[in-house]
Amino acid sequence: MRGSLIVVSGPSGAGKSTLIKASLEAVPELAYSVSATTRRPRPGEVDGRDYIFLSRKEFEHWIEDGRFLEWAEYSGNLYGTPEQKVEEFLNEGKSVILELELQGARQVQLKRPDAVMVFVRAPSLEETRRRLAGRATETEEALESRLATAVGEVAARDEFDHEVINEDRERASRDMIEKMESIVSGGRDAARP
Ligand code: ADP
Ligand code: 5GP
Repeated sequence: MRGSLIVVSGPSGAGKSTLIKASLEAVPELAYSVSATTRRPRPGEVDGRDYIFLSRKEFEHWIEDGRFLEWAEYSGNLYGTPEQKVEEFLNEGKSVILELELQGARQVQLKRPDAVMVFVRAPSLEETRRRLAGRATETEEALESRLATAVGEVAARDEFDHEVINEDRERASRDMIEKMESIVSGGRDAARP
């Protein structure tokens, strides 16, 4: 049986990566789709594990070659999902998590209407700002750009099937894991609230 395609979206700093990591550790039927990006690696990020780091020219070639399921520009950089690996996972029966900003999430929703859409957010924009500042991976300018984008992203949360409010980390991890377990065991309809 083919796995499910799962889109996880939400503002930068909401805790998507944190909750996805917890889900991948807890649910063996899940796989993570490693995106390509033109953004510079952060300290500790590994090419091929966290992202496939490409130059803009390389990324544009990948677009021309039709290698992306979706791609978008976010905060001055390009991000995209290589389609082939996603298909391989799905055919192996794995459910695949795509971590996407809103434009990419919408593209996947249109192209793959059976994708399960999960929105992650912090309890407030102030808390999102605190987390981004605490993560200390962005310049002041990049942080402001991400927060400005976050306003529009939160406004789109009704477009999603599920919402996880990441207030307490443990609780939100449990909530996310339960949703993922329900999705891998029953597909989208079983996972609908
Ligand atoms: P995203 O992937 O959505 O950009 P991250 O998972 O990187 O967000 O989380 C942003 C920052 O907030 C990280 O430093 C992370 O450790 C921290 N964080 C995640 N969840 C919580 C939480 N529930 N409470 C406080 N800090 C959190
Ligand atoms: P970051 O630079 O913090 O790793 O990611 C910035 C934003 O890009 C996040 O919202 C993240 O979910 C999103 N993102 C990561 N990979 C992809 C991708 O392949 N496609 C799209 N559209 N967005 C992505």
